[in-house]
Amino acid sequence: MARNKVQFQKGLSEAEFDRLYGTEEACRAIVYSWRWAKGFVCPVCGDTRHCVVKPRQLFQCTGCGRQTSLTAGTIFAQTHLLLRTWFRAMYHLTQSKGGISSIELGRRLGVTQTTAWKLKHKLMQVMMERDAGKRLGGRIEIDDA
Ligand SMILES: [Zn+2]
Repeated sequence: MARNKVQFQKGLSEAEFDRLYGTEEACRAIVYSWRWAKGFVCPVCGDTRHCVVKPRQLFQCTGCGRQTSLTAGTIFAQTHLLLRTWFRAMYHLTQSKGGISSIELGRRLGVTQTTAWKLKHKLMQVMMERDAGKRLGGRIEIDDA
């Protein structure tokens, strides 16, 4: 990810949000452009030749054979949530002035409060790090424990 764009324009309507980010494919395309702005680059050997292995849509490097996922090493990794759910969480967190409780976030996303709480805290940590001038690199890992 070259630049952190985990923030949505203030005042983006929910309808417009849905139009732009309403599908998993749209979210994947955006995360792809954040991570590999100039196209896929193998995190191990730097080769750009690759193929996509279905059904998990892993990227397999032609050079070294290593498989990597779109979200490996990003905050989106190691969750079973759709990227769409993450995007909606980001939307709700950035649109509400007074913040949003994890209960409310969970209700809006259709996930448990615990999941909403984790999402919220991971995203807030990333936003905080960004505000502190750090880049959201390709290797941010946040441990649930
Ligand atoms: Zn490789």
